[in-house]
Amino acid sequence: MKKYLAVFMALVLALSCMMIFTACDGASEKETEAPTNAATEAGTTAEANGEKPVLKMGTNAYFQPYEFYQGEEIVGIDAEIAAAIAEKLGMTLEIVDMEFDSILTAVNQDSVDFGMAGMTITEDRLLEVDFSISYANGVQSIIVPEGSPITCADDLYAEGASYKVGVQLGTTGDIYATDDFGKENVTTYSNGNEAVMALAGGSVDCVIIDNEPAKALVAANSGLKILETAYANEDYAICVKKGNSELLDKINVAIMELTEDGTIAAIVAKYIK
Ligand code: GLN
Repeated sequence: MKKYLAVFMALVLALSCMMIFTACDGASEKETEAPTNAATEAGTTAEANGEKPVLKMGTNAYFQPYEFYQGEEIVGIDAEIAAAIAEKLGMTLEIVDMEFDSILTAVNQDSVDFGMAGMTITEDRLLEVDFSISYANGVQSIIVPEGSPITCADDLYAEGASYKVGVQLGTTGDIYATDDFGKENVTTYSNGNEAVMALAGGSVDCVIIDNEPAKALVAANSGLKILETAYANEDYAICVKKGNSELLDKINVAIMELTEDGTIAAIVAKYIK
């Protein structure tokens, strides 16, 4: 199933790239165009006041190092890449924090212009929103207590094994684990920290979560470790309302330019040593 998904994702990415090259041809015409959706409406008054229009990003700011609070401010890889994209679009970034599983709805209801939350491109999400080209790779990791009988990903599938898995609600960890081990063996939490607290307290046997947040969670909680074998590999991308190709094309061009000039690599290097 995951192999088919990988092939499907590769096709989606190839298609996105073809669309970008088309978009690039028309980029000079598009540069003067007004931003779309919520951005357009918010932008009208802002522009009249001589301010830059606002570009609203929906995220879940408990996903270090991609988005997390530093005091009152939401910082991280996604926050900085989004700010660089907004700057290229001549707009000011505003970040709206929400539950991870509310982001797609917020995008589709125009309460934000795009979603960016270490979000993996999946077949099901593609039915609801459109995704940009990928700007980072993600890995689903398995966190276990030190001394756990689970020593590698395969142990979870072993004959007669029945482990309790903790995940963050609505994430790919949740979706894949529910598929693989059944709903009855998967407990959902509203963020990774709560899942790890449950693991430390013995309510679940392991937590499946993205690798970088996993590192931060293990560093902050003693007695836990990340297994060396990954549970799944995936691609992170930005989502926009289905059919909002005007904004999507601009975001894709910006991601390409920020990749080519090394901006994205520098932002990632700042947060992931
Ligand atoms: N990459 C995972 C997903 O897209 C988790 C993202 C997150 O928790 N912010 O489902």
